[in-house]
Amino acid sequence: MKTEFDVLVIGGGLVGLTAALACAQAGFKIGVVDIAKPNDQLDETHDGRASAIATASFRMMRALGVADVLVKGDDTHAGAINQILISDGEAGQAPSPLNLFFDSAEIEDANDGEPLGYMVENRRMRHALHICTKASKNITWIAPARVTGFNADTDKARITLDDGCVLSADLVVGADGRNSFMRKLAGIGVIDWPCNQKAIVTTVEHDLPHNGIAHELFLPSGPFAILPLTGNRASIVWTETPAAADAAMKLDDAQFASELARRFGDFLGEVRPIAPRWCYPLSFRHAKTYISDRFVLIGDAAHAIHPIAGQGFNMGLRDAAALAEILVQARAEGRDLGCELNLNLFEEWRKFDNTLLTHACDVFNRLFSNNFAPLKHARRLGLGLVDKIAPARSFFMREASGQIGDLPPLLRGQAYNNTSYESDAL
Ligand SMILES: Cc1cc2nc3c(=O)[nH]c(=O)nc-3n(C[C@H](O)[C@H](O)[C@H](O)COP(=O)(O)OP(=O)(O)OC[C@H]3O[C@@H](n4cnc5c(N)ncnc54)[C@H](O)[C@@H]3O)c2cc1C
Repeated sequence: MKTEFDVLVIGGGLVGLTAALACAQAGFKIGVVDIAKPNDQLDETHDGRASAIATASFRMMRALGVADVLVKGDDTHAGAINQILISDGEAGQAPSPLNLFFDSAEIEDANDGEPLGYMVENRRMRHALHICTKASKNITWIAPARVTGFNADTDKARITLDDGCVLSADLVVGADGRNSFMRKLAGIGVIDWPCNQKAIVTTVEHDLPHNGIAHELFLPSGPFAILPLTGNRASIVWTETPAAADAAMKLDDAQFASELARRFGDFLGEVRPIAPRWCYPLSFRHAKTYISDRFVLIGDAAHAIHPIAGQGFNMGLRDAAALAEILVQARAEGRDLGCELNLNLFEEWRKFDNTLLTHACDVFNRLFSNNFAPLKHARRLGLGLVDKIAPARSFFMREASGQIGDLPPLLRGQAYNNTSYESDAL
Protein backbone atom coordinates (compact mmCIF):
# COMPACT_ATOMS: atom_id res chain seq x y z
CA MET A 1 0.00 0.00 0.00
CA LYS A 2 1.19 3.54 -0.80
CA THR A 3 1.90 5.54 2.34
CA GLU A 4 3.18 8.88 1.00
CA PHE A 5 0.84 11.42 -0.54
CA ASP A 6 0.61 15.07 -1.49
CA VAL A 7 -2.78 15.31 0.22
CA LEU A 8 -4.56 12.91 2.58
CA VAL A 9 -8.32 13.30 2.75
CA ILE A 10 -9.84 11.82 5.90
CA GLY A 11 -13.51 11.09 5.20
CA GLY A 12 -14.71 9.72 1.88
CA GLY A 13 -18.20 11.23 2.02
CA LEU A 14 -19.71 13.43 -0.68
CA VAL A 15 -17.43 16.38 0.07
CA GLY A 16 -14.24 14.43 0.80
CA LEU A 17 -14.50 12.45 -2.43
CA THR A 18 -15.17 15.58 -4.48
CA ALA A 19 -12.13 17.27 -2.93
CA ALA A 20 -10.03 14.16 -3.63
CA LEU A 21 -11.18 14.10 -7.25
CA ALA A 22 -10.56 17.82 -7.76
CA CYS A 23 -7.01 17.56 -6.38
CA ALA A 24 -6.32 14.35 -8.32
CA GLN A 25 -7.46 16.00 -11.52
CA ALA A 26 -4.99 18.78 -10.80
CA GLY A 27 -2.25 16.13 -10.70
CA PHE A 28 -1.75 15.64 -6.95
CA LYS A 29 -1.25 12.23 -5.34
CA ILE A 30 -4.20 11.68 -3.00
CA GLY A 31 -5.03 9.18 -0.24
CA VAL A 32 -8.64 8.84 0.95
CA VAL A 33 -9.16 7.28 4.38
CA ASP A 34 -12.67 6.34 5.52
CA ILE A 35 -13.81 4.54 8.63
CA ALA A 36 -16.60 2.75 6.74
CA LYS A 37 -16.45 0.00 4.14
CA PRO A 38 -16.92 1.64 0.72
CA ASN A 39 -19.55 -0.93 -0.29
CA ASP A 40 -21.60 -0.26 2.85
CA GLN A 41 -21.80 3.38 1.84
CA LEU A 42 -23.23 2.39 -1.53
CA ASP A 43 -25.98 0.32 0.07
CA GLU A 44 -29.52 1.59 -0.61
CA THR A 45 -30.13 1.85 3.13
CA HIS A 46 -27.15 4.17 3.76
CA ASP A 47 -28.69 7.56 2.95
CA GLY A 48 -32.23 8.35 1.82
CA ARG A 49 -31.61 12.03 1.14
CA ALA A 50 -31.47 13.88 -2.13
CA SER A 51 -29.53 17.11 -2.49
CA ALA A 52 -30.31 20.30 -4.34
CA ILE A 53 -27.13 20.90 -6.31
CA ALA A 54 -26.74 24.55 -7.35
CA THR A 55 -25.99 25.27 -11.03
CA ALA A 56 -22.39 26.27 -10.27
CA SER A 57 -21.88 23.11 -8.19
CA PHE A 58 -23.25 21.00 -11.03
CA ARG A 59 -20.80 22.72 -13.41
CA MET A 60 -18.06 21.53 -11.07
CA MET A 61 -19.46 17.99 -11.26
CA ARG A 62 -19.31 18.25 -15.06
CA ALA A 63 -15.71 19.48 -14.96
CA LEU A 64 -14.77 16.55 -12.72
CA GLY A 65 -16.50 13.99 -14.94
CA VAL A 66 -19.01 13.04 -12.20
CA ALA A 67 -21.94 14.39 -14.20
CA ASP A 68 -21.02 12.00 -17.04
CA VAL A 69 -21.86 9.12 -14.72
CA LEU A 70 -25.07 10.77 -13.48
CA VAL A 71 -26.38 11.81 -16.89
CA LYS A 72 -26.11 9.57 -19.93
CA GLY A 73 -28.23 11.15 -22.65
CA ASP A 74 -31.88 10.86 -21.69
CA ASP A 75 -31.01 8.50 -18.88
CA THR A 76 -30.46 11.01 -16.10
CA HIS A 77 -30.32 10.96 -12.31
CA ALA A 78 -30.35 14.77 -12.12
CA GLY A 79 -33.80 16.37 -11.95
CA ALA A 80 -33.82 20.01 -13.11
CA ILE A 81 -35.10 22.65 -10.65
CA ASN A 82 -36.68 25.16 -13.02
CA GLN A 83 -38.67 27.12 -10.49
CA ILE A 84 -38.93 27.50 -6.73
CA LEU A 85 -42.14 28.46 -4.91
CA ILE A 86 -41.74 29.58 -1.28
CA SER A 87 -44.90 30.03 0.76
CA ASP A 88 -46.13 30.15 4.32
CA GLY A 89 -49.03 28.17 5.69
CA GLU A 90 -50.45 25.63 8.11
CA ALA A 91 -51.00 21.90 7.70
CA GLY A 92 -54.42 21.19 6.21
CA GLN A 93 -54.87 24.76 4.93
CA ALA A 94 -54.10 26.43 1.60
CA PRO A 95 -50.75 28.32 1.63
CA SER A 96 -50.78 32.11 2.03
CA PRO A 97 -51.34 33.89 -1.33
CA LEU A 98 -48.33 36.12 -0.50
CA ASN A 99 -45.48 33.98 -1.72
CA LEU A 100 -42.14 34.16 -3.45
CA PHE A 101 -41.61 32.63 -6.87
CA PHE A 102 -38.23 32.13 -8.54
CA ASP A 103 -38.08 31.27 -12.23
CA SER A 104 -34.81 30.23 -13.90
CA ALA A 105 -35.96 32.01 -17.09
CA GLU A 106 -35.41 35.35 -15.29
CA ILE A 107 -31.67 34.76 -14.88
CA GLU A 108 -31.23 32.89 -18.14
CA ASP A 109 -28.20 34.99 -19.16
CA ALA A 110 -26.29 34.64 -15.87
CA ASN A 111 -27.09 30.93 -15.82
CA ASP A 112 -26.36 30.17 -19.49
CA GLY A 113 -29.92 28.92 -19.87
CA GLU A 114 -29.47 26.32 -17.14
CA PRO A 115 -32.03 25.59 -14.41
CA LEU A 116 -31.59 26.98 -10.88
CA GLY A 117 -30.05 23.68 -9.90
CA TYR A 118 -30.52 19.91 -10.00
CA MET A 119 -31.93 17.42 -7.51
CA VAL A 120 -29.74 14.36 -7.21
CA GLU A 121 -30.32 11.47 -4.80
CA ASN A 122 -27.31 11.19 -2.49
CA ARG A 123 -26.96 7.46 -3.23
CA ARG A 124 -26.61 8.28 -6.96
CA MET A 125 -24.08 11.04 -6.30
CA ARG A 126 -22.09 8.79 -3.96
CA HIS A 127 -22.11 6.00 -6.56
CA ALA A 128 -20.84 8.39 -9.28
CA LEU A 129 -18.11 9.71 -6.97
CA HIS A 130 -16.99 6.17 -6.10
CA ILE A 131 -16.74 5.29 -9.81
CA CYS A 132 -14.71 8.41 -10.60
CA THR A 133 -12.37 8.21 -7.61
CA LYS A 134 -11.72 4.51 -8.17
CA ALA A 135 -10.95 5.22 -11.83
CA SER A 136 -8.38 7.87 -10.95
CA LYS A 137 -4.81 6.59 -10.84
CA ASN A 138 -3.92 9.51 -8.58
CA ILE A 139 -6.25 8.34 -5.79
CA THR A 140 -5.59 5.54 -3.31
CA TRP A 141 -8.50 4.40 -1.15
CA ILE A 142 -7.64 3.25 2.37
CA ALA A 143 -10.90 1.95 3.80
CA PRO A 144 -12.15 0.76 6.14
CA ALA A 145 -9.50 2.28 8.38
CA ARG A 146 -9.61 4.08 11.70
CA VAL A 147 -7.37 7.07 12.40
CA THR A 148 -5.79 6.99 15.85
CA GLY A 149 -3.20 9.74 15.66
CA PHE A 150 -2.22 12.91 13.83
CA ASN A 151 0.86 15.07 14.05
CA ALA A 152 2.51 17.65 11.87
CA ASP A 153 5.97 19.20 11.72
CA THR A 154 7.86 21.50 9.37
CA ASP A 155 8.43 18.58 7.01
CA LYS A 156 5.19 16.54 6.79
CA ALA A 157 1.86 15.67 8.40
CA ARG A 158 1.48 12.09 9.63
CA ILE A 159 -1.64 10.03 10.23
CA THR A 160 -1.49 6.83 12.29
CA LEU A 161 -4.07 4.11 11.64
CA ASP A 162 -5.28 1.57 14.18
CA ASP A 163 -3.27 -1.21 12.48
CA GLY A 164 -0.12 0.80 13.22
CA CYS A 165 0.38 1.96 9.63
CA VAL A 166 1.65 5.56 9.28
CA LEU A 167 0.63 7.66 6.27
CA SER A 168 2.35 10.92 5.44
CA ALA A 169 1.36 13.93 3.34
CA ASP A 170 2.10 17.61 2.85
CA LEU A 171 -1.48 18.42 3.82
CA VAL A 172 -4.26 16.58 5.66
CA VAL A 173 -7.89 17.43 4.92
CA GLY A 174 -10.52 16.70 7.58
CA ALA A 175 -13.72 15.82 5.70
CA ASP A 176 -15.15 13.38 8.23
CA GLY A 177 -18.54 14.98 8.77
CA ARG A 178 -20.31 16.93 11.50
CA ASN A 179 -18.89 14.86 14.39
CA SER A 180 -15.38 15.07 12.93
CA PHE A 181 -12.79 13.09 14.88
CA MET A 182 -10.03 14.84 12.91
CA ARG A 183 -11.30 18.19 14.16
CA LYS A 184 -10.87 16.94 17.73
CA LEU A 185 -7.44 15.45 16.98
CA ALA A 186 -6.36 18.81 15.57
CA GLY A 187 -7.63 20.50 18.74
CA ILE A 188 -10.19 22.67 16.94
CA GLY A 189 -13.28 23.63 18.93
CA VAL A 190 -16.79 24.28 17.61
CA ILE A 191 -19.61 26.68 18.25
CA ASP A 192 -22.84 24.74 18.13
CA TRP A 193 -26.43 25.51 18.87
CA PRO A 194 -29.56 23.39 18.63
CA CYS A 195 -32.68 24.25 16.64
CA ASN A 196 -35.04 21.82 18.37
CA GLN A 197 -36.05 20.19 15.10
CA LYS A 198 -35.66 16.91 13.26
CA ALA A 199 -36.04 16.34 9.52
CA ILE A 200 -38.00 13.37 8.21
CA VAL A 201 -36.88 12.44 4.71
CA THR A 202 -38.55 10.14 2.23
CA THR A 203 -39.28 9.80 -1.49
CA VAL A 204 -42.78 9.90 -2.95
CA GLU A 205 -44.32 9.15 -6.30
CA HIS A 206 -47.18 11.33 -7.55
CA ASP A 207 -49.73 11.14 -10.36
CA LEU A 208 -49.16 14.54 -11.98
CA PRO A 209 -45.84 15.93 -13.30
CA HIS A 210 -44.00 18.40 -11.02
CA ASN A 211 -42.59 20.37 -13.98
CA GLY A 212 -39.33 20.91 -12.13
CA ILE A 213 -40.91 23.12 -9.44
CA ALA A 214 -39.42 22.91 -5.94
CA HIS A 215 -41.86 23.86 -3.19
CA GLU A 216 -40.84 25.09 0.23
CA LEU A 217 -43.82 25.52 2.51
CA PHE A 218 -43.13 27.11 5.88
CA LEU A 219 -45.28 25.47 8.54
CA PRO A 220 -45.23 26.54 12.22
CA SER A 221 -43.02 23.60 13.22
CA GLY A 222 -40.55 24.09 10.35
CA PRO A 223 -40.16 23.94 6.57
CA PHE A 224 -41.82 21.23 4.49
CA ALA A 225 -40.02 20.82 1.16
CA ILE A 226 -41.20 18.98 -1.96
CA LEU A 227 -38.18 18.65 -4.23
CA PRO A 228 -38.46 17.46 -7.85
CA LEU A 229 -36.59 14.24 -8.66
CA THR A 230 -36.48 12.58 -12.06
CA GLY A 231 -39.83 11.22 -13.28
CA ASN A 232 -42.99 11.76 -11.25
CA ARG A 233 -41.07 11.55 -7.99
CA ALA A 234 -40.18 14.02 -5.27
CA SER A 235 -37.89 14.03 -2.26
CA ILE A 236 -39.65 15.20 0.90
CA VAL A 237 -37.90 16.99 3.75
CA TRP A 238 -40.46 17.43 6.51
CA THR A 239 -39.14 19.36 9.53
CA GLU A 240 -40.85 18.92 12.90
CA THR A 241 -40.19 19.34 16.59
CA PRO A 242 -38.27 16.26 17.83
CA ALA A 243 -41.33 14.80 19.61
CA ALA A 244 -43.60 15.23 16.57
CA ALA A 245 -40.93 13.82 14.25
CA ASP A 246 -40.45 10.76 16.48
CA ALA A 247 -44.23 10.25 16.49
CA ALA A 248 -44.42 10.60 12.69
CA MET A 249 -41.65 8.01 12.31
CA LYS A 250 -43.83 5.53 14.23
CA LEU A 251 -46.97 6.01 12.09
CA ASP A 252 -47.98 3.10 9.90
CA ASP A 253 -47.67 3.62 6.14
CA ALA A 254 -51.31 4.66 5.62
CA GLN A 255 -51.25 7.16 8.51
CA PHE A 256 -47.94 8.56 7.33
CA ALA A 257 -49.24 8.96 3.76
CA SER A 258 -52.32 10.77 5.07
CA GLU A 259 -50.19 13.18 7.18
CA LEU A 260 -48.05 13.87 4.11
CA ALA A 261 -51.16 14.52 2.01
CA ARG A 262 -52.47 17.01 4.62
CA ARG A 263 -49.33 19.10 4.11
CA PHE A 264 -48.88 18.41 0.41
CA GLY A 265 -52.39 19.28 -0.80
CA ASP A 266 -53.59 17.71 -4.04
CA PHE A 267 -51.74 19.75 -6.69
CA LEU A 268 -49.70 16.69 -7.72
CA GLY A 269 -52.65 14.28 -7.58
CA GLU A 270 -52.36 11.19 -5.41
CA VAL A 271 -49.06 10.97 -3.52
CA ARG A 272 -47.52 7.63 -2.45
CA PRO A 273 -44.39 7.16 -0.31
CA ILE A 274 -42.10 4.74 -2.18
CA ALA A 275 -39.05 4.64 0.07
CA PRO A 276 -38.25 4.11 3.75
CA ARG A 277 -38.32 7.11 6.11
CA TRP A 278 -35.13 8.58 7.54
CA CYS A 279 -34.95 10.97 10.45
CA TYR A 280 -32.09 13.47 10.96
CA PRO A 281 -31.65 15.53 14.15
CA LEU A 282 -30.84 19.10 13.12
CA SER A 283 -28.46 21.62 14.65
CA PHE A 284 -25.85 24.16 13.66
CA ARG A 285 -22.18 23.48 14.26
CA HIS A 286 -19.33 25.70 13.06
CA ALA A 287 -15.62 25.10 13.65
CA LYS A 288 -13.89 27.99 15.44
CA THR A 289 -11.13 27.82 12.84
CA TYR A 290 -10.75 25.74 9.68
CA ILE A 291 -6.99 25.30 9.94
CA SER A 292 -4.12 24.06 12.08
CA ASP A 293 -0.60 22.88 11.21
CA ARG A 294 -0.71 21.20 7.76
CA PHE A 295 -4.44 20.65 8.28
CA VAL A 296 -7.71 22.06 6.88
CA LEU A 297 -11.34 21.26 7.61
CA ILE A 298 -13.92 21.12 4.80
CA GLY A 299 -17.60 20.18 4.43
CA ASP A 300 -19.74 19.33 7.44
CA ALA A 301 -16.59 18.86 9.53
CA ALA A 302 -16.16 22.64 9.24
CA HIS A 303 -19.80 23.75 9.08
CA ALA A 304 -22.93 21.66 9.57
CA ILE A 305 -26.13 23.62 8.96
CA HIS A 306 -29.91 23.29 8.78
CA PRO A 307 -31.13 22.02 5.38
CA ILE A 308 -33.65 24.89 5.09
CA ALA A 309 -31.88 26.33 2.02
CA GLY A 310 -30.32 23.10 0.69
CA GLN A 311 -26.82 24.56 0.99
CA GLY A 312 -24.70 22.23 3.20
CA PHE A 313 -23.26 20.08 0.42
CA ASN A 314 -22.95 23.10 -1.90
CA MET A 315 -20.85 24.89 0.73
CA GLY A 316 -18.64 21.79 0.98
CA LEU A 317 -18.21 21.75 -2.79
CA ARG A 318 -17.10 25.37 -2.71
CA ASP A 319 -14.57 24.45 -0.01
CA ALA A 320 -13.25 21.62 -2.21
CA ALA A 321 -12.99 23.82 -5.30
CA ALA A 322 -11.23 26.63 -3.41
CA LEU A 323 -8.78 24.20 -1.80
CA ALA A 324 -7.86 22.61 -5.15
CA GLU A 325 -7.26 26.05 -6.67
CA ILE A 326 -5.04 27.17 -3.77
CA LEU A 327 -2.95 24.00 -4.12
CA VAL A 328 -2.61 24.48 -7.88
CA GLN A 329 -1.43 28.06 -7.33
CA ALA A 330 0.96 26.92 -4.57
CA ARG A 331 2.55 24.37 -6.89
CA ALA A 332 2.88 26.96 -9.66
CA GLU A 333 4.63 29.30 -7.22
CA GLY A 334 6.80 26.56 -5.73
CA ARG A 335 5.20 26.63 -2.27
CA ASP A 336 4.91 23.67 0.11
CA LEU A 337 1.27 22.45 -0.10
CA GLY A 338 0.86 22.51 3.68
CA CYS A 339 2.45 25.93 4.28
CA GLU A 340 0.88 28.52 6.51
CA LEU A 341 0.16 30.86 3.61
CA ASN A 342 -1.99 28.22 1.86
CA LEU A 343 -3.87 27.48 5.09
CA ASN A 344 -4.57 31.17 5.65
CA LEU A 345 -5.66 31.66 2.04
CA PHE A 346 -8.13 28.80 2.43
CA GLU A 347 -9.62 30.13 5.64
CA GLU A 348 -9.90 33.66 4.23
CA TRP A 349 -11.60 32.41 1.08
CA ARG A 350 -14.12 30.13 2.73
CA LYS A 351 -14.84 31.10 6.33
CA PHE A 352 -16.62 34.40 5.73
CA ASP A 353 -18.95 32.94 3.08
CA ASN A 354 -19.74 29.89 5.23
CA THR A 355 -20.31 31.98 8.38
CA LEU A 356 -22.71 34.28 6.54
CA LEU A 357 -24.72 31.40 5.11
CA THR A 358 -24.80 29.51 8.41
CA HIS A 359 -26.24 32.52 10.23
CA ALA A 360 -28.63 33.39 7.39
CA CYS A 361 -30.05 29.84 7.54
CA ASP A 362 -30.42 30.11 11.32
CA VAL A 363 -32.24 33.46 11.11
CA PHE A 364 -34.58 32.23 8.34
CA ASN A 365 -35.35 29.10 10.28
CA ARG A 366 -36.19 31.05 13.46
CA LEU A 367 -38.24 33.57 11.54
CA PHE A 368 -40.28 30.99 9.69
CA SER A 369 -40.58 28.09 12.15
CA ASN A 370 -43.15 29.61 14.49
CA ASN A 371 -46.78 30.62 14.72
CA PHE A 372 -46.31 34.01 16.41
CA ALA A 373 -48.98 36.13 14.67
CA PRO A 374 -47.03 39.42 14.14
CA LEU A 375 -44.04 37.51 12.75
CA LYS A 376 -46.31 35.40 10.58
CA HIS A 377 -47.82 38.54 9.00
CA ALA A 378 -44.41 40.20 8.63
CA ARG A 379 -42.83 37.21 6.88
CA ARG A 380 -45.81 36.81 4.54
CA LEU A 381 -45.52 40.49 3.66
CA GLY A 382 -41.75 40.04 3.30
CA LEU A 383 -42.18 37.15 0.87
CA GLY A 384 -44.76 39.12 -1.12
CA LEU A 385 -42.51 42.19 -1.14
CA VAL A 386 -39.36 40.41 -2.35
CA ASP A 387 -41.52 38.74 -4.99
CA LYS A 388 -42.46 42.17 -6.35
CA ILE A 389 -38.88 43.52 -6.48
CA ALA A 390 -37.12 42.07 -9.53
CA PRO A 391 -33.50 42.89 -8.48
CA ALA A 392 -34.07 41.30 -5.04
CA ARG A 393 -35.57 38.22 -6.70
CA SER A 394 -32.66 38.05 -9.11
CA PHE A 395 -30.13 38.32 -6.25
CA PHE A 396 -31.72 35.42 -4.34
CA MET A 397 -31.91 33.32 -7.51
CA ARG A 398 -28.23 33.86 -8.29
CA GLU A 399 -27.40 33.01 -4.68
CA ALA A 400 -29.50 29.80 -4.90
CA SER A 401 -27.77 28.79 -8.12
CA GLY A 402 -24.36 29.41 -6.54
CA GLN A 403 -23.32 32.26 -8.87
CA ILE A 404 -22.42 34.83 -6.22
CA GLY A 405 -18.98 35.42 -4.73
CA ASP A 406 -15.43 34.69 -5.77
CA LEU A 407 -15.87 31.41 -7.69
CA PRO A 408 -12.86 29.09 -8.12
CA PRO A 409 -12.31 27.77 -11.69
CA LEU A 410 -14.03 24.42 -11.04
CA LEU A 411 -17.27 26.18 -10.09
CA ARG A 412 -17.04 28.08 -13.36
CA GLY A 413 -16.85 24.71 -15.10
CA GLN A 414 -13.10 24.80 -15.86
CA ALA A 415 -11.40 21.42 -15.47
CA TYR A 416 -7.73 21.14 -14.46
CA ASN A 417 -7.05 18.21 -16.80
CA ASN A 418 -3.52 17.86 -15.55
CA THR A 419 -1.70 15.30 -17.65
CA SER A 420 -0.73 13.19 -14.67
CA TYR A 421 -4.41 12.55 -13.96
CA GLU A 422 -5.76 9.54 -15.77
CA SER A 423 -9.26 8.20 -15.58
CA ASP A 424 -9.31 5.73 -18.42
CA ALA A 425 -11.67 3.36 -16.62
CA LEU A 426 -14.65 5.76 -17.04
C1 LIG B 1 -32.28 16.33 5.75
C2 LIG B 1 -31.10 16.94 5.06
C3 LIG B 1 -31.23 17.42 3.76
C4 LIG B 1 -30.15 18.03 3.12
N1 LIG B 1 -30.33 18.54 1.86
C5 LIG B 1 -29.31 19.20 1.26
C6 LIG B 1 -29.49 19.80 -0.03
O1 LIG B 1 -30.57 19.74 -0.63
N2 LIG B 1 -28.43 20.45 -0.60
C7 LIG B 1 -27.22 20.57 0.05
O2 LIG B 1 -26.31 21.20 -0.49
N3 LIG B 1 -27.03 19.99 1.26
C8 LIG B 1 -28.04 19.32 1.88
N4 LIG B 1 -27.84 18.74 3.11
C9 LIG B 1 -26.49 18.79 3.71
C10 LIG B 1 -25.58 17.69 3.16
O3 LIG B 1 -26.22 16.43 3.23
C11 LIG B 1 -24.27 17.66 3.93
O4 LIG B 1 -23.73 18.96 3.97
C12 LIG B 1 -23.24 16.74 3.23
O5 LIG B 1 -23.72 15.41 3.18
C13 LIG B 1 -21.93 16.76 4.01
O6 LIG B 1 -21.02 15.91 3.39
P1 LIG B 1 -19.62 15.59 4.07
O7 LIG B 1 -18.91 14.74 3.08
O8 LIG B 1 -18.99 16.84 4.57
O9 LIG B 1 -19.97 14.76 5.37
P2 LIG B 1 -20.57 13.29 5.50
O10 LIG B 1 -21.54 13.05 4.41
O11 LIG B 1 -21.03 13.17 6.91
O12 LIG B 1 -19.34 12.32 5.24
C14 LIG B 1 -18.37 12.08 6.20
C15 LIG B 1 -17.52 10.89 5.79
O13 LIG B 1 -16.49 10.72 6.77
C16 LIG B 1 -16.45 9.37 7.18
N5 LIG B 1 -15.96 9.37 8.57
C17 LIG B 1 -16.63 9.70 9.70
N6 LIG B 1 -15.84 9.59 10.76
C18 LIG B 1 -14.62 9.21 10.31
C19 LIG B 1 -13.38 8.94 10.93
N7 LIG B 1 -13.21 9.05 12.24
N8 LIG B 1 -12.34 8.56 10.14
C20 LIG B 1 -12.49 8.44 8.80
N9 LIG B 1 -13.65 8.68 8.16
C21 LIG B 1 -14.70 9.06 8.92
C22 LIG B 1 -17.86 8.85 7.02
O14 LIG B 1 -17.87 7.44 6.86
C23 LIG B 1 -18.30 9.58 5.74
O15 LIG B 1 -17.93 8.86 4.60
C24 LIG B 1 -28.90 18.13 3.78
C25 LIG B 1 -28.75 17.63 5.07
C26 LIG B 1 -29.83 17.05 5.72
C27 LIG B 1 -29.67 16.55 7.14
